[in-house]
Amino acid sequence: MVLVVFPRRGCLVLVTALVLGLCFSIYGIYSLIRAAASPTIKDKVIVVDPGHGGRDPGATVDGYYEKDLNLKIARAVYRALEAVGAKPVLTRNSDRDFFPGGPYYGTRMQKRKELDGRIKIAVEAQADLLISIHSNAHRKSSVRGPLTFYYYDSPEGEYLARLVQKELNYLTDPQYHHEATGEAYYLLREAPVLALIIEVGFITNSEDFMLLNNPGYQELIANAIVKGLRAYYGGDPSRGES
Ligand SMILES: [Zn+2]
Repeated sequence: MVLVVFPRRGCLVLVTALVLGLCFSIYGIYSLIRAAASPTIKDKVIVVDPGHGGRDPGATVDGYYEKDLNLKIARAVYRALEAVGAKPVLTRNSDRDFFPGGPYYGTRMQKRKELDGRIKIAVEAQADLLISIHSNAHRKSSVRGPLTFYYYDSPEGEYLARLVQKELNYLTDPQYHHEATGEAYYLLREAPVLALIIEVGFITNSEDFMLLNNPGYQELIANAIVKGLRAYYGGDPSRGES
């Protein structure tokens, strides 16, 4: 047996070094765990769904179709998500629909089956989030402003929708602000992932209509949506995270 005898001072140094080493190790492990647990939008799979398309034009005003506007804005959202390191997926990148044809075509079930086609893309992509982009219409032409819907029974959806709506409200004057609203719309109810429907504005209002057709405003809408999502996932510079 070998006995290692340290002088008293040496022993103190050794103990101090051991304690310090242990502290650094614990801190290192803690930092690693914290980094792993810290949420960020980076690498989140976000399915962006331009509402309507193909045989379904959506709302129509003066020969303009909602489906075309939705696609332009969804593409802007796609680009804004890519720019912050998320992994966006578009359900459609052309003027198409998801009607299944066959026995459902022309029946009451056809719209649901059409939406199922979009939900399926989110499921197959193992999406963290599905956002469906729409443009609103109202019989009163004075009604305007963006409006975010979440599934009424989803506290997580409500929290996220409020963050997105807050950013979207910055784009209009206070009298046109809306509150994020809980609904039981088919897409929100049936999607097995966190989902929002974002109505980006009212095409029945002339100011909103003009803005929504402007590529610069489409970018602003997209950036506002992504800012809301970053506030939810973390990594929003305004909240002091990276
Ligand atoms: Zn729509």
